[in-house]
Amino acid sequence: MRRWSISPVGSPPNSRQNDGVERFDTIAALRVHLDSVRAAGRSVGFAPTMGALHDGHRSLIEAAARHNDVAVTSVFVNPLQFAPDEDLAEYPRPLEQDLAVAEAAGARVAFVPTPEEMYPREPWTTVSLRVVTEPWEGESRPTHFAGVATVVTKLFNIIGPCRAYFGEKDYQQLAMLRRMVTDLDQPVEIVGMPTVREADGLAMSSRNLGLTESHRAQAPVVHRALNAGVAAIEAGERYPAAVEAAIRQILATALDADEPDYVAVVDASSLRVPERLEGEVRLLTAVRFGEVRLIDNVGVVIP
Ligand code: AMP
Repeated sequence: MRRWSISPVGSPPNSRQNDGVERFDTIAALRVHLDSVRAAGRSVGFAPTMGALHDGHRSLIEAAARHNDVAVTSVFVNPLQFAPDEDLAEYPRPLEQDLAVAEAAGARVAFVPTPEEMYPREPWTTVSLRVVTEPWEGESRPTHFAGVATVVTKLFNIIGPCRAYFGEKDYQQLAMLRRMVTDLDQPVEIVGMPTVREADGLAMSSRNLGLTESHRAQAPVVHRALNAGVAAIEAGERYPAAVEAAIRQILATALDADEPDYVAVVDASSLRVPERLEGEVRLLTAVRFGEVRLIDNVGVVIP
């Protein structure tokens, strides 16, 4: 265990012990610490991340700190959720900066394990879910969700009982994790948080940094297109295919974007396309701009 704190130069060691973020590299030390937190009757809030923290991550850590006595964040780029042809090696890892962001957002604990700490040997046990993971992202990235469900289960087993904060930005992931904790009786309350966006509507993502200048200028079309779908529903459209067409029409105006991987207008909990839209509806899409694949979604409730 190593204490990490952005204490002002010259201050006595550990003088901000209660304010700084405490960094843990090992599972064993973190368990001892969080067990003692809970034994003292204090609640734990947990915001897992892969680092390269932006305001979207910050909102999760802030909520964990607001709603709980001790906010924990993890920074771990999980190899299990990347396919061989995906960007694992290139994924940004600005750790010192991430620890400063985590601290400023109110995290008291940062768990920063190495891949060897998390996977000392090849796991023979994995967690995978049916149904909710099959369409959309599941079709484009067939091994992704089992990688996420496995690492999140490991993290829940390491952190212990807590409230865990996830972004609606990864809506299908959030739906999967809600189902996972109930299916497996994991002692975790999942809390979904709204997507944080740039001023022009682009959903914040560490992958946005990989966009060329021209793709970055076009990327807000994704949110505009989803909003056009919402507008169609609000104007009375109830056929998913018609709403999908409205979204595709706007996406097609971004000349450099490829054909979207998918555009889905679905029931918000089953993620299936209903015959007619009613209740809570989610509009989801994945679009590639060059090397960068962007996902986004919005929700609408039909009264
Ligand atoms: P990642 O580091 O990409 O694995 O994301 C870690 C967590 O941050 C996940 O729960 C994401 O859904 C969430 N997240 C990522 N981007 C955003 C965003 N723009 N707004 C809200 N949450 C986000």
